[in-house]
Amino acid sequence: MASSRLLSKLLGSKPKTKTNIRVSGLVKAMSLAREQLTSGIPENGVEEFRHFVTQTLANTDQICRTHLIKPQDLPAPSYRAYQYLKQINLSQIPIVDKASAPVQRIRISNLNAAVRHIQQRVMEVTREIYHGTPGARKHMREVQNTVAQQNAYLQLMLKKKKAEIVDLPPRSASSALWLNYLSDDENYQTVIDQLVTCCEIYEDFRKKSRASKRIPVLKHMSFEFLPMSALYRWRVKDGLGQMSFHPGFICANKEIFEIIISSAILRRNSKNALKIRQFSSSTAFMEIAKMLEGEIRPDDAVGQFHDLNELFEDVNQQYFRNRCERPKIKWGSRITRRKFGMYLPTSDTVVVSLSLDQQYVPRYVVAFILYHELLHKQLGMKDTAKRQIAHTSKFRQMEKQFVKYNEAQRFLEKLARTR
Ligand SMILES: [Zn+2]
Repeated sequence: MASSRLLSKLLGSKPKTKTNIRVSGLVKAMSLAREQLTSGIPENGVEEFRHFVTQTLANTDQICRTHLIKPQDLPAPSYRAYQYLKQINLSQIPIVDKASAPVQRIRISNLNAAVRHIQQRVMEVTREIYHGTPGARKHMREVQNTVAQQNAYLQLMLKKKKAEIVDLPPRSASSALWLNYLSDDENYQTVIDQLVTCCEIYEDFRKKSRASKRIPVLKHMSFEFLPMSALYRWRVKDGLGQMSFHPGFICANKEIFEIIISSAILRRNSKNALKIRQFSSSTAFMEIAKMLEGEIRPDDAVGQFHDLNELFEDVNQQYFRNRCERPKIKWGSRITRRKFGMYLPTSDTVVVSLSLDQQYVPRYVVAFILYHELLHKQLGMKDTAKRQIAHTSKFRQMEKQFVKYNEAQRFLEKLARTR
């Protein structure tokens, strides 16, 4: 019974998708809401906006009840979207006067098409590398150059329009963040390596399963990482298989891919769904997801008022005798109330809250936050969820060595109160 259904699925020409329970449109709803809250909502659209948010939440609750799950059991991106919508204060919606705020949408032509093309080429290159096709490595570098070129063009256009990625329409923003992610050589290489591993896993699996005649032969199978709300997606069309993973899996180990690939193809996932879901709420997964959802600014460390690169040099010299290896340093993309910095160990990144990139924030305050986060890097921190444990007495003692420790603390406390 199960196998005949599988057979018809594999041979059928209609593309079908297979995912964990997901609420379609939830992540899109969040992007839309965020966009509207950022640009402000015209007075006559407020009711409609409230309705939209409450309806989306009610709908999600309903779906969860039907599947006997809680919202937190949804795939991580959906759950984050749910949480985002839930925390919107519907009684205090920023209203904008239509006449005074002309809605100027920033557009970058061909961005989505360019990224789609790159996706396609990455999949092809991966298959070439897996099969040892001559010229595969050369093609890999060619695609890498295309990524760099497109990203440079994107940055140039944004500068010209005095805009940032978050100003783009949601779909373009998502493409832009992904392009930016891939333009990092290390990220690009990891993506390729992981996708080649997937080809190997699939081939192993196919050989084993073919012996028991469980799965028919596909002409070929492609793998990709794709920014999306589902954790993974698998479809077959005209004998060609394609599997997409949420980019959060870029840092997953082989076992996770084995679980996803085998359970997707055999359509058996009950036992393993938990492992996949657990991984999707790990720090490593979250870091990538946050980056690709625009929570962390992907561009450089140079803010409008403070240059984190310069500050790093100073702090490193003064407190670490230049022995702290430079992590990635980025500004966050949002104003935060209490949390002014974080250290992401998996990607070795320090993120400083955008709240501190202000003229009235003294340089030493930003330096203090940077110092605090660099201490986390130097003293080691296994998981950001265990942040409290990271603040050991040794940590606190070293933190107090900061020259203007008291002033900085007082300034930050005041800043947290005044918001
Ligand atoms: Zn800390």
